[in-house]
Amino acid sequence: MLTAIVGINWGDEGKGRMVDLLSENYDVVVRYQGGNNAGHTVINERGKFILNLLPSGILRDSTVNVMGPGMVIDVEHLFGEVARLREAGINVTPENLKISDRATICMPYHKLLDILEEDRLGDAKFGSTRRGIAPVYADKYMKKAFRMGDLLHPESLKKRLPGILEWKNLTVNKGYGHEELMVDAIYEWLEKYGMPFADYICDTTRYLTDATNNGKKVMFEAQLGALRDIDFGIYPYTSSSSTIAAYAPIGSGIPAQKLDNVIGIMKAYSSCVGEGPFTCELFGEKGEELRQAGGEYGAATGRPRRVGGFDVPASRYGILMQGADCIALTKLDILSYLKEIPVCVKYDVNGELVDYFPSGDDLANAKPVYEYHEGWCCDISNCRRFEDLPVAAQNYVRYIEKVTDCRIKYISVGADRDQYIEL
Ligand code: GDP
Ligand code: MG
Repeated sequence: MLTAIVGINWGDEGKGRMVDLLSENYDVVVRYQGGNNAGHTVINERGKFILNLLPSGILRDSTVNVMGPGMVIDVEHLFGEVARLREAGINVTPENLKISDRATICMPYHKLLDILEEDRLGDAKFGSTRRGIAPVYADKYMKKAFRMGDLLHPESLKKRLPGILEWKNLTVNKGYGHEELMVDAIYEWLEKYGMPFADYICDTTRYLTDATNNGKKVMFEAQLGALRDIDFGIYPYTSSSSTIAAYAPIGSGIPAQKLDNVIGIMKAYSSCVGEGPFTCELFGEKGEELRQAGGEYGAATGRPRRVGGFDVPASRYGILMQGADCIALTKLDILSYLKEIPVCVKYDVNGELVDYFPSGDDLANAKPVYEYHEGWCCDISNCRRFEDLPVAAQNYVRYIEKVTDCRIKYISVGADRDQYIEL
């Protein structure tokens, strides 16, 4: 059984929280793309955890976690993340964490280049998380990156490093005028933060093939949402990797396998971190109230997120791109303060009302068309059955199911593991 858990919107839909809940029924959880540029927040009986690189299954004793070949890994960040978990009493061992030898290492100079370029752009900046993700994926496709497996062969790594740094210094030093990158310093960094993971690095394809052949249940955990996908998202304000479910078997290392099930995580309203078109955005007091109510501040960066009402065209598109079989609707409880719930039902693109998700300039120029739904104005965080929800909340859920044409299977009404309704 292979299931992908993916984001339908711009990210931060509550994927980490749902993976934490649903991973109970899975033997293996795999991350298949991205790096530490986004965060999953998980709250359970063991505490509150922010995971940037590790699959959310790491918080369950019986789950094996895989970091797949599609990932980019800043080993210094991983080192810190693992140390924080250990301090909180979570076991991280080569038994429950397997890192693909094909995953790309996000080096200090990738982070540096990300920062240098964002600073150079000034007001025109991309809103990058400055974690080096675009530069490291660029190097991967330039075929000039280092991979986790290289850490197992220090001698050949040492031989390749000077040539790569000579090339990098053409931009870092000769282009941006930053001080030169030094071979020794970079090698020491790899020794200090990368080498300690030597026992965790393996051919995860072989591991996953055996696991699936032996009937193990595998869950793929996406980072970011459909609208950040490099090909199908709001390019260029996308991430640098494929965030969609179709990429899960590739980024995990088992392309011959077919997914059985795609669960889309979709928020009862919208949020978006950073720059780029976000048609349904609410401004002023309305936006500030929703941001406060939803605690919409980035898990990785602490940046205030932009917020808006539920966005029908964007969510329908996200569901389509993900090929979602069903939906987990999250953060419904956040809307409890509203008398009237705003929903962006269509876009006005140059005077024409559309219900599809445009791209390029049409998306940039789109204006939201808002409708209002009756609110319920009471606490729903203790509801555990659909019937327990106030009628207005039931109607809102049924409405969203109808306009997106996708079955809602779970409703999350709080951040704790048990605060959900299964339909
Ligand atoms: P992810 O990136 O998709 O994993 O989501 P984030 O962790 O960045 O953001 C989701 C936030 O909402 C986290 O702080 C979660 O603890 C919290 N959360 C998730 N589901 C719910 C919910 O149903 N209700 C409330 N109140 N909070 C939730
Ligand atoms: Mg997040």
